Amino acid sequence: MTEAEFINLVLRKTKKGMSFIASVYKALSEVVEAQSQSQPQCFACHKGCSACCHQLVTSTEAEFDEIITYILSLPRRQRDTILNRARKRAAEYQQWLEQHQLTGTVITSAEKIIWANEYWDGKPCAFLDESGNCRVYPARPIDCRTYHSTSVCQNPTWSDVKRFVWPAETWANNLILEQGSKAQKFFGVVPLLHWLLIKSFKKSSPK
Ligand code: SF4
Repeated sequence: MTEAEFINLVLRKTKKGMSFIASVYKALSEVVEAQSQSQPQCFACHKGCSACCHQLVTSTEAEFDEIITYILSLPRRQRDTILNRARKRAAEYQQWLEQHQLTGTVITSAEKIIWANEYWDGKPCAFLDESGNCRVYPARPIDCRTYHSTSVCQNPTWSDVKRFVWPAETWANNLILEQGSKAQKFFGVVPLLHWLLIKSFKKSSPK
């Protein structure tokens, strides 16, 4: 498949009434699924491994909005479990930023991502449950959809992933970022999911 064919696939889905982000995700899943069928021996990923959920995860604001929409659509109990955990993690991160006199910073540069990396240090994603499952799986961002390893990760809390890079990941990312610059709605850089957690939930306290 070429990038132009991928874009056409996305457009066909939007014409059927699917949202832009959902269309990108669906097209990406279809392409990755089809390609992984033809080379299954390449992948070591298996159910129960969540090593890559212990690394920093990137997301555009558009993708994060999709996660928020999904969370808000869940039954109250399920929703509150996710939000309370996210708020707790966001508060911890905020405290860390303050201790290091980094308050008021917006993560848009490689330097600041290094700071976040120092804080993160193998912590689980705020959306990972105790059994190693993703609580926002249907709405997970592109980064999570295409993170495949060609060797088994030996460390359960910090991935030594040998990443297989899908061409469609770049196409999907490009589409979202282009859409963002046109609509002036999304960030021009890929911000950290974690920073967006702070942005969205910091001011509201758990109910
Ligand atoms: S959003 Fe889900 S799949 Fe992605 S890192 Fe978090 S728990 Fe893992």
